[in-house]
Amino acid sequence: MSVDTTSNTVAERKPLSVPQKALRKMGLLRPVDMALHLPMRYEDETRLGTLSSARDGDTLQFEAVVQSCQVVFKPRRQLQAVVTDGSDICTLRFFNFYPNMQKALEVGRKVRLRGELRGGFMGYTMMHPTVQAAGAPLAAALTPVYPSTAELPQAYLRKAVLGGLARALQSDAFTETIPREHLPPHTWGLRESLQFLHHPSPDVSLDELEDRSHPAWQRLKAEELLAQQLSQLQAKRERQLLNAPVLAHSTRADGVRAQLHAVLPFTLTGAQTRVVTEIASDVARAVPMHRLLQGDVGSGKTVVAALAAAQCIDAGWQCALMAPTEILAEQHFAKLVGWLAPVLQPLGLQVAWLTGSQKKKERDAMLALVASGEAALVVGTHAVIQDKVQFKALGLAIIDEQHRFGVAQRLALRQKLSDAETFGEHSEGTPQEPHLLMMSATPIPRTLAMSYYADLDVSTIDELPPGRTPIVTKLVADTRRDEIIERIRVQLTEGRQIYWVCPLIEESEALDLRNATDTHQDLCNALPGVMVGLLHSRMPQAEKKAVMSLFVQGQMGVLVSTTVIEVGVDVPNASLMVIEHAERFGLSQLHQLRGRVGRGAAASACVLLYSLGEHGRLSDTASARLRAMAETGDGFEIARRDLEIRGPGEFLGSRQSGAAMLRFADLAVDGELLQWAQQLAPVMLDQYPSNAARHVERWLGGKSDFLKA
Ligand code: ADP
Ligand code: MG
Repeated sequence: MSVDTTSNTVAERKPLSVPQKALRKMGLLRPVDMALHLPMRYEDETRLGTLSSARDGDTLQFEAVVQSCQVVFKPRRQLQAVVTDGSDICTLRFFNFYPNMQKALEVGRKVRLRGELRGGFMGYTMMHPTVQAAGAPLAAALTPVYPSTAELPQAYLRKAVLGGLARALQSDAFTETIPREHLPPHTWGLRESLQFLHHPSPDVSLDELEDRSHPAWQRLKAEELLAQQLSQLQAKRERQLLNAPVLAHSTRADGVRAQLHAVLPFTLTGAQTRVVTEIASDVARAVPMHRLLQGDVGSGKTVVAALAAAQCIDAGWQCALMAPTEILAEQHFAKLVGWLAPVLQPLGLQVAWLTGSQKKKERDAMLALVASGEAALVVGTHAVIQDKVQFKALGLAIIDEQHRFGVAQRLALRQKLSDAETFGEHSEGTPQEPHLLMMSATPIPRTLAMSYYADLDVSTIDELPPGRTPIVTKLVADTRRDEIIERIRVQLTEGRQIYWVCPLIEESEALDLRNATDTHQDLCNALPGVMVGLLHSRMPQAEKKAVMSLFVQGQMGVLVSTTVIEVGVDVPNASLMVIEHAERFGLSQLHQLRGRVGRGAAASACVLLYSLGEHGRLSDTASARLRAMAETGDGFEIARRDLEIRGPGEFLGSRQSGAAMLRFADLAVDGELLQWAQQLAPVMLDQYPSNAARHVERWLGGKSDFLKA
């Protein structure tokens, strides 16, 4: 066959197939990316086992003779076959099957089967094993199984990956970047490691491969951690070359900050005072601050933000405050604005609101306030940083619930912030960047944050304001809904308010969940004379606000909602939170939700309603999550458990960036490698800058920006 030199352009015009699109979506574009898409596990198809020597849960490949095969209807239509390998018998079940399957499993035939063995009281069973004729040659090497998606069949992916690997190894894509004398001890060469991990020899221990302690894995993890550390350190160094406005701490008694202190209805906790000082000294330096303020739900981050804003305004600069949604922006900053606005007014300064749903006229008026500098405080959603918004002198940007912003949004935000035009007349001379304070109620364990986020300073509020009553958390089976409704009735007669949270807003065939609309109807019927409201994300903004304000003012007794209330809402009179299908929520999400109650002095409770689903039991991770919720109310302990349940790769990935940031290394296990990478990163940047650049490019390609977000 002749080689068609135009095939590239032809291929570009052809629409992508489903698996091609899936590859793209997974970021598998370059041969390098393919080669770095490493197996998540391996299957040993090199050997045959026997039923009697296998254990419950093992993946077993064995050969056996079919004893019986029939279609049964218990409980639903399925093909059921019984086979024996001489050592024991096993029942095979297929819920989806084709006529040729019955043929392959004719009584008396000898077949090779492969699947997960379940050893119940009633004997061995296997669901949907793969079936082949017995006697075919066995695989010579372990079979890699790659992380994939539903649209991407394993066989297709495997071929693509191995093709990419071969091409990458032929090119100079994987020449060593780490100077030999700096390599971590006992690791293999890079090319050798890659070759091995994609094609391990059958004699290697599966355990070593699977727990990733094998030297080839160690090498890949080291490379990955180094790439992370390099890109973070680079970002930090770049930032330190920028100028930021010096927001000196003013001690003037008529200053905004001093007056704010005077109107606060409480004294700061020790932890608040400490973080306020940390931030105050950061913003007084001419280097842009890049700080994460973390503190549990209700720990009082808003007042810390207000004091930072006041310091900024006292220095003659503008402060922008952003929350991920309009409801949050309003709910969350209402108090802050309530404190600051009366102080600003006599100084001729104003507060501007910028949101997506604003009418043009109102928005234009606000934009004018921002541009003239009259608005010292600019509050809103990410509309605050949209193109049209021109600050006269933006000195400090505060992002609340920063983990709720999408990665792309956070990137846009940072770009906008470092965009010189943002500064109006202050922008002459060296590039300026405002100080950045991010706030999050989803704590990252401190040591993890400090070691992993080289480009982030962290302040932690580890103490709740006094006078809080602990929240009692109960796990209740869905079958006892009626008792819960009874409890709601009692609470209502005591003048309390109730949240009821549901995971979905519309009936979905796939997930037979009771939706918010249904629950709303049920509760309306069960509680005549009580105002029961409904709030979900697809409602028009105005309607959401109306519902929220009825609840905040106390007229509405029960608020049924999807997770739009997840963060930020402050209704001290709400003392009971019911979370439906709690087993479907993530641990930190449950904790955030629970934080909506227990804000006043009344004893508060959180009821986690769970349903057992079709298997009649909760998954291990779901029950671990629910148990953690019942056992502790401490956000840091919750974060620690979450880390334990999910593993740090996923923990950091989904939480902090929206994209998996560590694919191979596991910070809970690979502390030593992390330390090695931390020490090597500055050496590489200083002494081997071109190697460092090549290293980051190889690992992160276009993604390195995402790490800064
Ligand atoms: P979060 O950290 O979740 O944003 P908030 O800032 O909303 O918490 O604070 C929760 C509640 O605690 C608010 O009603 C706030 O006014 C109150 N609060 C904050 N700091 C203190 C304090 N030092 N003493 C008493 N109440 C406080
Ligand atoms: Mg808050």
